[in-house]
Amino acid sequence: AIAHLTDQNLLRDELYVGGVWTPGAGGEHAPVLDPASGDELARVAEGTRADARRAIDAAAVALPKWSRLSAKERARLMRRWYELIVEHVDDLAVLLTAEQGKPLAEARGEVLYGAGFVEWYAEEGKRAYGDVIPTNDSGRRLFAIRQPIGVCAAITPWNFPMAMIARKVAPALGAGCTIVVKPAPSTPLSALALAELADRAGIPAGVINVVTGPAEEVGHELATNPAVRKLTFTGSTPVGRLLMSQAADTVKKVSLELGGNAPFIVFDDADLDAAVAGAIASKFRNAGQTCVCANRVLVQAGIHDAFVERFAAATAALKVADGFTDGAEQGPLIDARALAKVKDHIADALAHGASVATGGDSHELGGTFFQPTVLTGATTAMKIAAEETFGPVAPVFRFETEAEAIELANATESGLAAYLYTRDSGRVWRVGEALEFGVVGVNTGAISYEGAPFGGVKQSGLGREGSRHGLDDFMELKYLCLDGI
Ligand code: ADP
Repeated sequence: AIAHLTDQNLLRDELYVGGVWTPGAGGEHAPVLDPASGDELARVAEGTRADARRAIDAAAVALPKWSRLSAKERARLMRRWYELIVEHVDDLAVLLTAEQGKPLAEARGEVLYGAGFVEWYAEEGKRAYGDVIPTNDSGRRLFAIRQPIGVCAAITPWNFPMAMIARKVAPALGAGCTIVVKPAPSTPLSALALAELADRAGIPAGVINVVTGPAEEVGHELATNPAVRKLTFTGSTPVGRLLMSQAADTVKKVSLELGGNAPFIVFDDADLDAAVAGAIASKFRNAGQTCVCANRVLVQAGIHDAFVERFAAATAALKVADGFTDGAEQGPLIDARALAKVKDHIADALAHGASVATGGDSHELGGTFFQPTVLTGATTAMKIAAEETFGPVAPVFRFETEAEAIELANATESGLAAYLYTRDSGRVWRVGEALEFGVVGVNTGAISYEGAPFGGVKQSGLGREGSRHGLDDFMELKYLCLDGI
């Protein structure tokens, strides 16, 4: 598939440090595999701790000049980067599907979604306003100004190899910061292609650096190096906890986008067709491998059987195929570990009394392909209720009352996304306010937009990405008190 790239120079296999493509200091390489076939797509340089340090140094050297450019000048360069990403959307989607497995149409959507952050923060950087504070003393004038926090580090996951990087790098650059990115080892190609396009856009050397390589070396250095003032991470909750503790020694500002356990609540008064379509969109996007995917489908008793019937039929009709196949709706899971977790959750649910409405087993395509699955009779005794499955399995829980739905929905340590379907506007507010989640979709299963604040409460994380609030995470507020006027 990668042979079909129209611009072969987007396929990079080295680190991007200080504006230069460079082999890792250790001389090691790691294979990047196509999850659909297991074939090797490329061998990418493995960065070391020394490479991570070099990248941090490069970001520190680039910082004064980048942060002192006018916001308008930074916006011009970022806009150029955005345009190049959009211009190369087809090639970027090919790279993304090849290394990650999601259907090509979804990959294209991800590239444009990611590009949206670059466009949005190019503009928002111009609006990093401060305050003029009415004075407490006629001889004084008081101001609050917002300044870039400094050198940033980003550690990103494999499920959105492009968008998770754009979502972090764009606000950092818009704020006037420089950054070092460590992409997930299984999906480095999208990150490197983005760096190549940033280079072509004229983003100055050292402003964006990409260091591939093992988490224990590269990730650890980013989390502990004193020159890094801000660490932004998207990934699993256990790794997020670890990074937060590692970053504590140098008191870094930390943003974390961690696991979710999204409830998808369907009330008796819901529009049934819309609820089924929303559940399919929310559950099976990226084969269920997103932190906002519906993890628990909660359905009120009066609509339960009708919903399950239609939901199972729509699920069974999903086209499972290699992401490059026309019309593919669900690709392979990322790796054998992901597949094992899905199987474990299903076996545990069945042992605790759940039934299979559709799917339930490996797909005939083999490898890590899995059948889109709906289970009924799910209960809180099951692993699938407490843990994020991160796969194409929808367990359906039955509930009777609104209060019961809220209690069930909130019975998790996670608090990222939640969804509810109802046509009662009073209930929209009651339930919307009672849900302990950072993002609530009402009568929709798709909530992502760069202009809206995304992030979790409870153990789903800290900070927000997207919107004007996302810029704050990369800035410090300085109070200036001028006396002697
Ligand atoms: P997943 O289970 O979805 O792969 P992880 O949280 O393990 O999620 O991975 C997300 C990102 O965090 C990846 O870039 C990965 O390499 C990185 N990572 C994993 N473990 C560590 C660690 N101990 N220190 C720093 N980064 C890590």
